[in-house]
Amino acid sequence: MENLTGESMNQEISELRVVRDGVDIPDIHRLHVFRAHGGYAALEKALHLPAAHIIRELTTSGLGGRGGAGFPTGRKWQTARDAPGVPVVVANGDESEPGAFKDRELMETLPHRILEGALIAAHTVGADQVILFVRGEYDRAHQRLTEAVAEASEAGIISALTNTPGDAVSVHLHRSAGAYICGEETALIEALEGNRPMPRGKPPFPAVSGYLGRPTVINNVETLAAVPAILNRGGDWYRALGAPDCPGTRVFSLSGNVRFPGNYELPTGTPLRALIEGPGGGVPGDRAIKAVIPGGTSTPLLTPDMLDAPLSPQGLATVGSALGTGSVIVYDETNCMVDLAANMSLFYRDESCGKCTPCRDGTHLMHEILSRIEAGTGDRDDLAQLERICGYVPGGSVCGLGPAAVAPVASSLRHFRGEYMDHISGGHCPVFKRYEVRGQCFPVIRSP
Ligand code: SF4
Repeated sequence: MENLTGESMNQEISELRVVRDGVDIPDIHRLHVFRAHGGYAALEKALHLPAAHIIRELTTSGLGGRGGAGFPTGRKWQTARDAPGVPVVVANGDESEPGAFKDRELMETLPHRILEGALIAAHTVGADQVILFVRGEYDRAHQRLTEAVAEASEAGIISALTNTPGDAVSVHLHRSAGAYICGEETALIEALEGNRPMPRGKPPFPAVSGYLGRPTVINNVETLAAVPAILNRGGDWYRALGAPDCPGTRVFSLSGNVRFPGNYELPTGTPLRALIEGPGGGVPGDRAIKAVIPGGTSTPLLTPDMLDAPLSPQGLATVGSALGTGSVIVYDETNCMVDLAANMSLFYRDESCGKCTPCRDGTHLMHEILSRIEAGTGDRDDLAQLERICGYVPGGSVCGLGPAAVAPVASSLRHFRGEYMDHISGGHCPVFKRYEVRGQCFPVIRSP
């Protein structure tokens, strides 16, 4: 645990490192360094513990999935253990949401902690296979995980796990093709099976029937990285760290208009304002905050009067948003909210897999309308049409991408309707000074 101080910090706040513990230690990605700092002690302990004990500790800890959904990890492991067939464990490192970069740092700096967590999972559920699923563009993460697997294999750490008689657990990496949707667990399974990554309907849930019809535990890499500390220090210790509805810590990827963007691990329940003004150092030039995305671009925007909301699922739900992936993006007063929504809709339009008509066509339509409004050629009917699309896309979507695509658009319409109207009535953006350079807009930054 250490103190981080921003240049103009308004609130004292300490980073509480559990999964990021040791992140600054030189060469911590190497096995001998990781071991010298206590690495793999939890796995050694786990090998002498019954599965029921490990699952009980995880359940006591309240650890939930850190990839966005927050599903209880202990329950997922128990379900896979109870399901017929030999389970498979997948570490999900296909981090692709705009603003998210916590998994990347973990995979690059602490690959052995992720591997240790995945091996504990394999031991607990009785898996014969561990697959490390890494985002296609993450070259260094892929390289570091590859080296970690090789080192652990050579040191006999992996061969110590023999869940099926006579066979050691096999560990291998799978490099994602680079589509955002591959991070969705059923699309990930399709990708692993060599198919086009289109999400499947649920049930069956992957923990019951997933990869090749086998029980499949899919955990985000941050989730797995929390497991060794929980086994070492106990579920009660972890539960006491954060908010009751989401115990422990979260790694928040802080970006946008802040002085010190970066990854910060804090207890859940920390006020959003404390993250932005503490480690984040506030907004450069002391410009006013206009909006904040609190949990990745799939979560609704917040306005400045909501910044005291605690960073927990319940805390953010009270202000109409969600914790999601914990990717916090700050927008100051020089940002145009129509531009933001148009940008997000472009991302989701391009990343929709096309399986569901409302998502496939709705994201196209949203982007078309938003671009029109941004260009100053929209009309009042466009707002009604946007609201109609935001209403039908979530219900007609097989996976979470549909609701995610709607979140920034619907929330910006709700909180910044006046700005949309100004574009329509004025025929131009009231916030940006528009430069006709390859069709791009540039914000006017006033001198501090
Ligand atoms: Fe594909 Fe969108 Fe349907 Fe998800 S909601 S399955 S991304 S079309």
